Amino acid sequence: MHHLRFRQVHLDFHTSPEIPGIGLAFDKQEWQRTLKEAHVNSITLFAKCHHGWHYHFTEKGKLHPKLGFDLLRAQFDACKEIDINAPIYLSAGLDDQTLFRHPEWQIVYTDPKTLGASVASNLRPGFHHVCFNSPYTDYLCEQIRETVSLFPNCDGIFLDIINQPECCCEHCLRVMYENGLDPTSQADRQKCAQIALERYYSMTTMAATAANPDMPVFHNSGHVTPGNRSLLKKYFSHLELESLPTGGWGYDHFPLSAKYVKTLEFDFLGMTGKFHTTWGEFGGFKHPNALRYECCAMLAFGAKCSVGDQLHPSGKLDVSTYRLIGQAYADVERKEPWCDNTDNLADIALLTAAAVRASGTKDIPGDNGAGRILLEGHFLFDVIDTEANFKKYRLLILPDDVTIDARLKKKLDTYLANGGKLLLSGHSGLDSDGKLLFDCGAKTAGLSPFRPDYVQWAPDIAPDYLASPMVMYLPAQRLKVTDGTSLGDVYDSYFNRTSYRFFCSHQHTPALPEPSGFAAGSRKGNVMYLAHPVFSIYRGWGCVPLAQILRNAIRSLLGDDCSLETNLPSTGRVTLMHQPSEKRYVLHLLYANTIARGGNINVNGVTSRGIIEVIEDLTPACDVDVRLKTPKAIREALLAPEGTPIPFSTDDQGWLHLHLDRFTCHQMIELRYAKCANTNACAQPNEA
Ligand SMILES: [Zn+2]
Repeated sequence: MHHLRFRQVHLDFHTSPEIPGIGLAFDKQEWQRTLKEAHVNSITLFAKCHHGWHYHFTEKGKLHPKLGFDLLRAQFDACKEIDINAPIYLSAGLDDQTLFRHPEWQIVYTDPKTLGASVASNLRPGFHHVCFNSPYTDYLCEQIRETVSLFPNCDGIFLDIINQPECCCEHCLRVMYENGLDPTSQADRQKCAQIALERYYSMTTMAATAANPDMPVFHNSGHVTPGNRSLLKKYFSHLELESLPTGGWGYDHFPLSAKYVKTLEFDFLGMTGKFHTTWGEFGGFKHPNALRYECCAMLAFGAKCSVGDQLHPSGKLDVSTYRLIGQAYADVERKEPWCDNTDNLADIALLTAAAVRASGTKDIPGDNGAGRILLEGHFLFDVIDTEANFKKYRLLILPDDVTIDARLKKKLDTYLANGGKLLLSGHSGLDSDGKLLFDCGAKTAGLSPFRPDYVQWAPDIAPDYLASPMVMYLPAQRLKVTDGTSLGDVYDSYFNRTSYRFFCSHQHTPALPEPSGFAAGSRKGNVMYLAHPVFSIYRGWGCVPLAQILRNAIRSLLGDDCSLETNLPSTGRVTLMHQPSEKRYVLHLLYANTIARGGNINVNGVTSRGIIEVIEDLTPACDVDVRLKTPKAIREALLAPEGTPIPFSTDDQGWLHLHLDRFTCHQMIELRYAKCANTNACAQPNEA
């Protein structure tokens, strides 16, 4: 396994050929001092950018026309001299200057009209996309081989923009003819795109590792698709989770992506940006509190850190940017001994629809809604694919859209037979006829015609302020309870809002006074089924009472198998890591309030980016109680990295109780289960 450093910068350098004086302000001493003062110990440097220009002397590509010296060599040697790692970046999927010379290597879209402004023309600003079935891939491999031979001691090759849209260029047409595929069929064009990607992965990985089989390689597509283990194993040395919370990924993408990747055999980085919004934003800054939170989140979710920046064409690192990074990385540096070689402890596994489909999309509403419920409810969980070992978990959640084939059904049956618990919702757990695949003590009778309908939730899972039917925005499966326990009564509406005649008030036709006789969910033993796509509803509408209902439903099913509870607010995050080499668990408490700022405006033809979730304030979390159970008995609890012992007690049900008066942003608590070397320094646990 390739072992990563904790404090990386990803230094973008996509630079127009129209800008003069490239790299002229590069100064070795200043470069070294800036990176050292910012606590950076690894930085990804550019061999070739999206514009297609190289920043080192090259025989295989083209040197940037306004660059008169070997900038990459100067940057690289300056880093190596002070023990800063330097992985090297090559743009793979975008290469403008090459495509101007070889337009036949470009993606030819099936129907460019439907793609609108996302396809660059030669008259609009924007990059052009290569086709990996074209000879471009051979050309790229020559550049990769040249890079690793010029920089044999580089710390990895980072290849970017690894996507292949459906393409009907001459090369793809030939591939389709040769493989018996029909270019007029979308499914066949997608198969052709897969062939192109496989060709890309195998050729470029071979090129990067030709001279040194241990050369780290990462291929970036902006998202690590769950369920593609064989691809990851074959072609990746480690993972970098590109996830700029203010750049379109949001604050929940990284934790959920990390929760999946942490179950695999890879060291990995979280990758945010220093920008207010996203890549390429010169002069864009986030508040130092935001970057501090984002880096602490990377530690809390078991990742190492990477912050994206873009170097000014002059080659001078930006003073404010590295002050910003330095504040966050000083904190990371103090904390990293508690964060290396850890395993995430989990009661629950979220088996996502994305992982079952192994599809590239990063926003399946049910998956992300369920992820948010688990994060906000402070559950200990992993995100898994179908290859995971289910036995490790007490509860499996299959949210809304998980299709269960015969192989998965068999694996889930074994899991249940061994005492596992299962929560299903919406279409998850139904066969192709809409019948339930698992016995939850109820029967389905097709999809409800009512949208919306209403649910009066059972009192034990409803919030204490809610005893009336609550609107459910997406249609449910009709569910009749047989020998299970109902989780609530469905109320239909008088009619759907469909016409000039059938509508009522501003939004919803109200509920009928009497329940429909169908249930909102049913539980029998270890199987619970919820009839609405509840997690998609939560993802789409963010209804707080629904979140509480779903947390309560999960808690009731988990029962005594729950190993952590806390009074942290819903915006707080909790993880529990095991660090076996240090014989300790590390509890991470993380807290910030994200807030929506910005909005949609268009002034004089300039359009804003819409609402953006930002962090400005880090308010302390006060009077935090945590009770937890750990596999091994705890001998000592310490604040980390402070080293201050904190009192704890253990009750007769085996719960360990901790109390913190306050913390700001992120606090680790080290829970030692072995005696430390100096036995006098070990506090004795206070028995309750
Ligand atoms: Zn093509």
